[in-house]
Amino acid sequence: MHSAFNYLVIGGGSGGLASARRAAKYGMKVALIENSRLGGTCVNLGCVPKKVMWNAAHLIEDRKVYDSYGFSSGLSTDWATLKANRDAYIERINNTYITNLKKEGVEVLKGFAKFSGKSSIVVNDSSEYTSSNILIASGSEATYPDIPGKELLSSSDDFFYLQEKPKKVLILGNGYIACELACMLNSFGVDTTLAIRVNQFLRAFDADLTKILKEYMEQEGVKFKMQTLISEAKKIGDKLEATFNNGEKDQYDKIFCAIGRKAKIGGMNLELTGVKQKDDGFIITNEWEETSTKGIYALGDVTGKIQLTPVAIAAGRRLSDRLFAGKTDSKLDYSNVPTVMFSHPPLGTVGLTELQARAKYGDDVKVYYKKFTNMFFSLSPHKEPTVMKVVCVGNEERIVGMHGLGRGVDEMIQGFSVAVKMGARKKDLDNTVAIHPTASEEFVTMT
Ligand code: NDP
Repeated sequence: MHSAFNYLVIGGGSGGLASARRAAKYGMKVALIENSRLGGTCVNLGCVPKKVMWNAAHLIEDRKVYDSYGFSSGLSTDWATLKANRDAYIERINNTYITNLKKEGVEVLKGFAKFSGKSSIVVNDSSEYTSSNILIASGSEATYPDIPGKELLSSSDDFFYLQEKPKKVLILGNGYIACELACMLNSFGVDTTLAIRVNQFLRAFDADLTKILKEYMEQEGVKFKMQTLISEAKKIGDKLEATFNNGEKDQYDKIFCAIGRKAKIGGMNLELTGVKQKDDGFIITNEWEETSTKGIYALGDVTGKIQLTPVAIAAGRRLSDRLFAGKTDSKLDYSNVPTVMFSHPPLGTVGLTELQARAKYGDDVKVYYKKFTNMFFSLSPHKEPTVMKVVCVGNEERIVGMHGLGRGVDEMIQGFSVAVKMGARKKDLDNTVAIHPTASEEFVTMT
């Protein structure tokens, strides 16, 4: 069988779905090929179930102040119920996608896509589909260190399959996933150790905030092994024994690996297309999401640009706007992308860290900084830190970075990122009347 389409999209994750649906909206004949559940990593094994677990952990964290507000804190957690309710919620989202795609006229082809040429794809080694526009949005997958016993290591995917709460875990890595897993599991009462190969926690983020986050995580029970790499994993009974580069050994129920991800392109016959990849496997694209082969595009995690769902969605929609609606200048601006680390407390950021700003602008940088305790904790001996930082440049103090750590920051940074994107200056914050009493008012009252 052979069918021709206006647009073939490989991958039913955030970027692929968004681009396919937008193309169909413009009346294009679109097919989306997905081997697994619709929604990709974000919906099935990433952001969405993670946020459910973070919400649960947040409720547990709030119990630390229950007594001071006059509530009893003696509630127990039930992992199995939480998992069942979470899985049911994800299934509802999967089904909504199926319904919506059908309604919008996107043909969903269930199976594995392989290129058979520069403008053709074979699905499940049988039917062939052709198009002059093919999008690769196949996502990413976890990487593992090349050590003896690496097959014993778990990824963040496995976290979501856990039927019961582990007692003791080791987490490897120094990015979003390692930090978020460590905070969530620690909130659930799991004995949690984070092994980091360098001497600075979360070094991609602003150091003033991550220093305080690390101190707080340690205070709440997370153990840090700095400048530590795993050199071997071994099964001993029902435990996993980790050997570290300093010769130390310890046993855990699970070892989670969160050391970054790689492009998911295995078995796709990319070599038949001429699409070029970086040394680390990510597909090379230009600012228009074009690969090195005319008519083949790539976006989202598979390009390794910025591995965030809203980035893939925005890039996918803009690509379809350009290809199928004549919006010739439509492309994603990858600067000042806001993001939140769902740690406890959460860390929100947009723009440059102080270090990045100083490297770019030197002595032209001025920093405003405030550390305080959110009023939510005033009745309780338990205190969570809040830190806010505004990084400005030049005489007019244009804001090039805003960073926050603390309760509620996850919901604050989106609004402030609009201001940064619009080119706000410090005086624009000063001219904004504070909302009292909130933590966010500190962002507009810094001196
Ligand atoms: P990240 O790239 O964020 O972090 C992985 C870190 O692990 C590296 O930065 C590096 O830090 C360290 N590392 C790399 N190689 C090794 C190694 N061999 N041994 C030990 N440590 C190593 O990857 P994640 O897996 O955490 O997340 C993947 C992507 O998913 C992120 O880029 C992010 O965009 C996205 N994500 C976003 C979330 C959010 O928005 N809240 C949540 C979860 C994921 P160092 O060099 O400092 O050692």
